[in-house]
Amino acid sequence: MSVSPNPKSLLAELVTAHRILVAENVLDAFGHISVRDPQSPDTFWLARALPPSVVEAHDFLRFDLSGDPVAQDKGPLFAERYIHSAIYRARPDVHSVCHHHAVAIMPFCLTDRSLVGVSQTGAFLGNGVPVWDSATEFGATRMVVETPDQAASLATALGSEAVILMRGHGATVVGCGIRDTVFRSVYACKDAQFQYVAAALGPVNTLSEGELELGKVPSNPAINRCWTHLSALYQGTDQTKKGSIA
Ligand code: MN
Repeated sequence: MSVSPNPKSLLAELVTAHRILVAENVLDAFGHISVRDPQSPDTFWLARALPPSVVEAHDFLRFDLSGDPVAQDKGPLFAERYIHSAIYRARPDVHSVCHHHAVAIMPFCLTDRSLVGVSQTGAFLGNGVPVWDSATEFGATRMVVETPDQAASLATALGSEAVILMRGHGATVVGCGIRDTVFRSVYACKDAQFQYVAAALGPVNTLSEGELELGKVPSNPAINRCWTHLSALYQGTDQTKKGSIA
């Protein structure tokens, strides 16, 4: 396997993504976001097992698509690293993966209420995010994806979608890059909140099939505006000026 030099700008952007996702209450003490290495696409970068609030660039390790670290040994490792490896293996179009247990998303992991797109920035959720139930194939678990078989099952259930909910557990979000995955992670939580706040007022009006179709892929200007805003809020600098990779 060829191993490219440490891609500093990519990992700097991944650090910023951690800061944003913690500040936006997507990640807390748990959860993680990774990026596929563009120079070595059969590998990806994921932090060693740390709270995302303290992750720095030197904490990232390169993993292969079996979920094993390529060379570095900075352990301990996330048990759930297999979520990332299984999805990168199944989805060549995916270049970043975020797994989280956000409070905003959990009600849809605990009830039969479907998470759907209800706004401009949530239309990518479509008319119902799929839900994976670990118990269907694996019975009682610790509600942690900790084996390659469990992760492969999750990746199969994800299919070609961008978001999958995990019953009693959380969500996994994928995108074509770090910024896209951050956008989807943050705005899936916002649309989730819209839905249960609105439900207190009355029946929720969702987007039409035509509106969902028009909004199913977030635009690059929207993704970049979101990134510029959130990175300025939470890091105090504009990462678009640093030549980082979207
Ligand atoms: Mn988890």
